[in-house]
Amino acid sequence: MIYKRSSALFAKAEQVIPGGVNSPVRAFKAVGGTPIFVKEAKGAYLYDEDGNTLIDYINSWGPMILGHAYEPVVNAVIEKARKGTSFGMPTEIETQIAELAVSMVPNIDKIRFVNSGTEACMSAVRLARGYTGKDKIIKFAGCYHGHSDSFLIQAGSGAVTFGSPNSPGVTAGTAKDTLLAKYNDIGNVEALIEANKGEIACIIIEPVAGNMGCIPPKNNFLQQLRALCDANDILLVFDEVMTGFRLAKGGAQELYNVKADILCFGKVIGGGLPVGAFAANNAIMNHLSPLGPVYQAGTLSGNPLAMAAGLAMLTELNNDKEIFNRLAEKTEYLHKGLSEVLVNRNITHTINRVGSMISVHFDETEVIDFETAAKGNNETFKMFFHGMLNNGVYIAPSAFETWFISDALSYKDLDKTIAACNAVFE
Ligand code: PLP
Repeated sequence: MIYKRSSALFAKAEQVIPGGVNSPVRAFKAVGGTPIFVKEAKGAYLYDEDGNTLIDYINSWGPMILGHAYEPVVNAVIEKARKGTSFGMPTEIETQIAELAVSMVPNIDKIRFVNSGTEACMSAVRLARGYTGKDKIIKFAGCYHGHSDSFLIQAGSGAVTFGSPNSPGVTAGTAKDTLLAKYNDIGNVEALIEANKGEIACIIIEPVAGNMGCIPPKNNFLQQLRALCDANDILLVFDEVMTGFRLAKGGAQELYNVKADILCFGKVIGGGLPVGAFAANNAIMNHLSPLGPVYQAGTLSGNPLAMAAGLAMLTELNNDKEIFNRLAEKTEYLHKGLSEVLVNRNITHTINRVGSMISVHFDETEVIDFETAAKGNNETFKMFFHGMLNNGVYIAPSAFETWFISDALSYKDLDKTIAACNAVFE
């Protein structure tokens, strides 16, 4: 494939944008080469500036669950834009999407919209601290909850890909209130709670981790966290920025039948526009300004274009009774096909999958936490990434990311992807 124009555009971007990208995970630093500049996208395909067509397994890092430029979403945005793009005053559509989200997600009465997943998680933790009157939080190594200071402690995603899981600029004062636990290790969480009795406001977790590859909760880990939280007056915060409206209508809470106290959303809920949200029951949400003392605000929060895209997206997902089964079936098909190729070619690997999230790790150890995720062979991953790209398949340029399956992918696309994998290791 030729990336002449992408290379030229990247060289220009590097002059005026740090690293040439507005979010580090877009850079190819971990795999080498030049980031691909997208011209447009439709359905399952990206069309780049050099005229290449790529089957997309990133889908804007999750939001485009129905594929790119999905007509009902695009039309809703265009129609809204004609009537004004921001007012800083209440609009009816904010209540409409809030009603729909509350009806789809278990255990929530109210939801507040913000502009990103980072804002959602940051605000959720502030609310948890304000509600409980306690300062400390527990997060898990390799989980990513956005780039707010409290979370950049052994963070996953780009933070680990680029070697800054603990970012300079986060003060020691902030870092000391974030306690770090091991994913899927309940004994470790128990010990942390014991050592910090009465000081922990919340445990925040990706109920299926997606920022160190895809890692499912094992051995009723979420249920065990729920029990520990109940026993110790700690709020359980599910960061469902990736899993919300993706794994099921009601997200990971529904899939695993576990109740969280505060939920964080992003990605799918905005239909591809900049949206995040956090939600809880009345008792907790009524602590939020202007009803309660915990402050949180946003000039563009509940923006009409973003709400129109989100409402159109959630409406589609709510009305399509088969969507989540269909997505899971496609992902299972891909899993089986890739497994077969890698086994036949004698490539050491592990594949993890939950619903429409899947990741390929080049190590045979079961990948259950950050430590096991970090064991994967990065040289093989680099070769795999570039090989897939040369065969027209775009996966994340990092071994620490999940793939996101969209409903726009056909079985023909999945077959092409499996054939690409075979070609890479031929
Ligand atoms: N939480 C999770 C689980 C995420 O995966 C992400 C982003 O990838 C975030 C929070 C932050 O969301 P945003 O990038 O919209 O700020």
